Amino acid sequence: MSSGSTENEAGAPALAALLDGSVYGDTLDCVHCGLCLTSCPTYRATGRETSSPRGRVYLMRGLAEGRLKDPQLLEEEAFLCLGCRSCETACPSGVRYGEMLEHTRDAIRSGQFETGSGQTSSPGLAVRIERFALRQIVPKAGRLAAMVSLLSLVQKLGLDRLAAKILPARLAGMVSLLPTIPPAAERKRLPAFTPAEGERRGRVALFEGCIMPEFFGRVNDAARLVLSRAGYEVVIPETQGCCGALQAHSGDLDFARDLARTNVSIFGGGDLDAIIVTSAGCSASMREAEHWIGDDGAEMASGVRDILEFLDEVDAELTFSPVAKRVCYDDPCHLIHAQGIAAGPRRLFEKIPELELVPHANPEACCGAAGIYNLTQPEMSKRVLSPKVEALVAAKPEIVSTANPGCAMQISAGLTEAGLDVPVFHPIELLEEASRPR
Ligand code: SF4
Ligand code: SF4
Repeated sequence: MSSGSTENEAGAPALAALLDGSVYGDTLDCVHCGLCLTSCPTYRATGRETSSPRGRVYLMRGLAEGRLKDPQLLEEEAFLCLGCRSCETACPSGVRYGEMLEHTRDAIRSGQFETGSGQTSSPGLAVRIERFALRQIVPKAGRLAAMVSLLSLVQKLGLDRLAAKILPARLAGMVSLLPTIPPAAERKRLPAFTPAEGERRGRVALFEGCIMPEFFGRVNDAARLVLSRAGYEVVIPETQGCCGALQAHSGDLDFARDLARTNVSIFGGGDLDAIIVTSAGCSASMREAEHWIGDDGAEMASGVRDILEFLDEVDAELTFSPVAKRVCYDDPCHLIHAQGIAAGPRRLFEKIPELELVPHANPEACCGAAGIYNLTQPEMSKRVLSPKVEALVAAKPEIVSTANPGCAMQISAGLTEAGLDVPVFHPIELLEEASRPR
């Protein structure tokens, strides 16, 4: 526990994370207008003020000022929050909610809060397992690959179906979220260099991520191919690492900072036009690296572009063949709310002949995936997913498309449970198919 310069009436010495950091000052930006309330999935689901953005900001401020004696409620609400940041889109006062949430969770998880009884709360078993997985497996490519290979074997033997029948409901629910593990050929490393096709327009780096190569290697490969067809050389540094988003969202900012520094050392400098990212969660965290590591992260952050943003921005000259499909595009929260990217992906879809972009209700609403939220808060995650699935079922698409791996897995599981056999693709997969030389 950090010590005491900020000890207050609540006897919570290391509220330093709130008081000395930027969080307390940021809470003062909230003018309690309530314009964010209806955009918040947990408020819509519960109707509770404390489960709204305004309520959570008020709890952060109350704890920092010593009016809130026991931080347990803030702890519960900070982790019930999806971190979807739709409140930021709705907020007219520019409250930097996502950043405040990360610091608050970090303060909670690092034991910087005392409970009302004066005891420092210690993390339970589930939190310790989560931290182990996020530190020791997810960012270690070899270990993650071994674990995914094991899962692939489990699926081939049908043990996952057996597990879904015999495990307690909560664990069975986790098993049902797992997508079919792609064949080994799709999980191999991509080439370190891909030349530009036709006239060279520039040079970009492709950030592969940690989960993406194992579960969505085909998405990274599609990005590589489309960039090359658009005239860009693509470099894929072998030593790149995890972006740190999952760790930061789980309240492990120190570890996330280390991961960000590693990526700065790999992607910083060099003659790159952009650092291209195919996962909205990763691009959102990488372009906010300054929040974690200050000026050291500035150069990398300024170069980061989501693949859809980049292709739209450079007006990539690609020739598209028809894809006669009805497609629902669902906005990932970390693309639309954290990065303000909504029109670009739709403009790209419109370039594909015969592709019909079908509207569905509230495409900008959270699907409930939120990193590992669907594992840590399965009940609320399902409540948030339910209206999303209803909206998609009502729209009757032939394809659902979204630009974040967690959203793709969550929506796919929801559609399967609803009995709708519709594939979920990243938009770049459709762009790759349509731009394939015939
Ligand atoms: S991040 Fe999402 S869930 Fe959390 S308070 Fe904001 S709108 Fe609500
Ligand atoms: S919209 Fe912004 S200022 Fe208004 S209550 Fe929500 S967070 Fe506070």
